[in-house]
Amino acid sequence: MTVYIIGAGPGDPDLITVKGRRLIQTCPVVLYTGSLVPRALLQDTAPDAFIADTSSMNLDEIIGHMKAAHDRGQDVARVHTGDPMIYGSTAEQMRRCDALGIPYQVIPGVSSYAAAAAALSQELTLPELSQTVIISRCEGRTPMPEGEDLVALAQHKATLVLFLSVAMIKKITRQLRPLLGDDCPVAIVYKATWPDQLILRGTLENISAQVTDAKITSHSIIIIGRVLGTTDFAESRLYASDFSHGFRKAKVEESLT
Ligand code: SAH
Repeated sequence: MTVYIIGAGPGDPDLITVKGRRLIQTCPVVLYTGSLVPRALLQDTAPDAFIADTSSMNLDEIIGHMKAAHDRGQDVARVHTGDPMIYGSTAEQMRRCDALGIPYQVIPGVSSYAAAAAALSQELTLPELSQTVIISRCEGRTPMPEGEDLVALAQHKATLVLFLSVAMIKKITRQLRPLLGDDCPVAIVYKATWPDQLILRGTLENISAQVTDAKITSHSIIIIGRVLGTTDFAESRLYASDFSHGFRKAKVEESLT
């Protein structure tokens, strides 16, 4: 018996791994995390599978279902939105499983930040502009550890990706404008890959008004940084004609041989 902790992807039911889909179809117990897991993924479960939305359960109740399945010798598909290893509250479930001797395995998923970048056709790392992506969130009910406040992170001038924070966009832009400039580009992707996906593009100066107008308060990824929308970046060395690597010899070298 195993609890499979499965990433369901960002919303489009085709954006789950083959392995994750197969496990949802075959496990006799399916526990999923509520509104952000696409219902289409739960349509071809085993005919007599026990299926439950855990959004109204506390941790003890969720673990109770896993323990009961373990006692019956039944596999569990534990389905989380996006990738389960980021803002997934999965570590606490794995810790409880460890304590109870319940085996588990993690099946990765397409995180919503990757889906947001794809929706924008935006590479988050561009040569000589930003080679670093900082993934974070603003303080909500979960307090931020020391040194991880937004202004401290933004000092790096790297591409910033914020989960769980669109309701605080006013505060975010107020904090970052003095540091990154009023014209620093911002993109917000609401419900990436869902039929009602919405993309907002603007700057630290005007994005907050757009969010208010669109009445967006949740389910969004915020991306902030100079990589957004620019065509003014160096080409990578990977495809440079004078650059050799394991799979390709440089043109210059070739002409010498
Ligand atoms: N593990 C998930 C994140 C869960 S936390 C992942 O890897 O994506 C929930 C937050 O994720 C939301 O508040 C929102 O910030 C983001 N999110 C999840 N699905 C999203 C989607 N389809 N589009 C935009 N943001 C999404």
